[in-house]
Amino acid sequence: MNDLLVDADSCVKCGLCLPHCPTYTKTRNENESPRGRIALIQAWAGKHLETSEKLIEHIDNCLLCRSCERVCPAVVPYGRLINNFRGQIKDKKKSSLAESLLKEVSHNKAANRLAQSSLSFYQSSGLQKTARFFKLLELLKLDKVDRLLPPQSDQAPLQSNYFTEISPARGNVGLFIGCMGSLLDHETVNSAVKVLTAAGFNVYLPEQQTCCGALDMHDGDIEAAKHLATINCDAFSENNVDAIVTIASGCGSQMREYQQTEFAGKVVDISQFLIKSGSNFTDQLTPLTAAVCLHTPCSLKNIMREEQGALKLLQQVPGIKITALPASIQCCGSAGSYMLEHPQMAQALLNDLLDVALEDQSQYLVSSNIGCALHISAGLRERGIGLEVIHPVTLIARQLK
Ligand code: SF4
Ligand code: SF4
Repeated sequence: MNDLLVDADSCVKCGLCLPHCPTYTKTRNENESPRGRIALIQAWAGKHLETSEKLIEHIDNCLLCRSCERVCPAVVPYGRLINNFRGQIKDKKKSSLAESLLKEVSHNKAANRLAQSSLSFYQSSGLQKTARFFKLLELLKLDKVDRLLPPQSDQAPLQSNYFTEISPARGNVGLFIGCMGSLLDHETVNSAVKVLTAAGFNVYLPEQQTCCGALDMHDGDIEAAKHLATINCDAFSENNVDAIVTIASGCGSQMREYQQTEFAGKVVDISQFLIKSGSNFTDQLTPLTAAVCLHTPCSLKNIMREEQGALKLLQQVPGIKITALPASIQCCGSAGSYMLEHPQMAQALLNDLLDVALEDQSQYLVSSNIGCALHISAGLRERGIGLEVIHPVTLIARQLK
């Protein structure tokens, strides 16, 4: 309670964060703004406000995009405040079936492997089409998960405990692939290894690595998140890695805030790592005459603060035309499991993004976070548009000669 009050009291109520908040922009309701949410928590922690469904709803509606934190002149630790509040009221909340499934697949390797083979059967056998036709998924409340599934990929996952050995190497890096990367995006994992080795780095993928803990932390299960952090720190403690490179900024932003500061200090987005290490691929890349729309995830911009890496990396491709989405486009609405629990707000924010992204008739939309990529891809499919959404390193890997 004390920590909550100290953090909430640091807000000077200036309101500078309001225009940057997606939920406030959409609702114009002060309770759906950063300043309003801080005031609610302040009143609750000071025992002036009872716990109520309405209070929990206003805090739950926050995307934790942390745009407010980035612009706050008083440096209010907004993310910590919300996570701690959710930790205090977690017994009052029930997880949906979709959220529970997501956590199980994220935390449990056997469940993740089972999900991989089941998904393959579900998509290739025609079961997905039948279930969609008869609206069975809506009955089971799994339609929000189903819409996110990308078409089946022909890329095979890497073997566990993978370690490249090139000589001479510029250094050793650990690759954090995240639970969704290992389940749904083998091409980005394979591309990351290809690009990092092309840049001269040995790449280490420890089998023991697990979910980053973001789902638990945002759900108020702080102990579970800490447990996962410990597993990841142990997993990357061997092989003397110089950096722990992430291909999903949602995971990277969570790991950047681990209490294990030595580990946290090594976490870096893959594009940023390649640029910072002076890797230049221009002479190794086939030209690409294509227009690319660049999406910058909130986690990359507001928490990792490494938004320049992807742009600079993509600029190395000869012939490419890159257009970044304007600053007026706020969070895409994916926000971890937010898109499953708050589909209306998630869809409204996605619609704003797609309307602008589609103006340029790009051939690719590039995003550094798998959660955003899945949500945006689903929106494009629903509009019947075949624009491909890929990770920046996937685009680089495809152009490597
Ligand atoms: S969170 Fe920061 S920007 Fe927003 S009202 Fe409080 S002090 Fe001002
Ligand atoms: S984290 Fe994002 S959604 Fe939540 S209050 Fe801040 S700006 Fe608004």
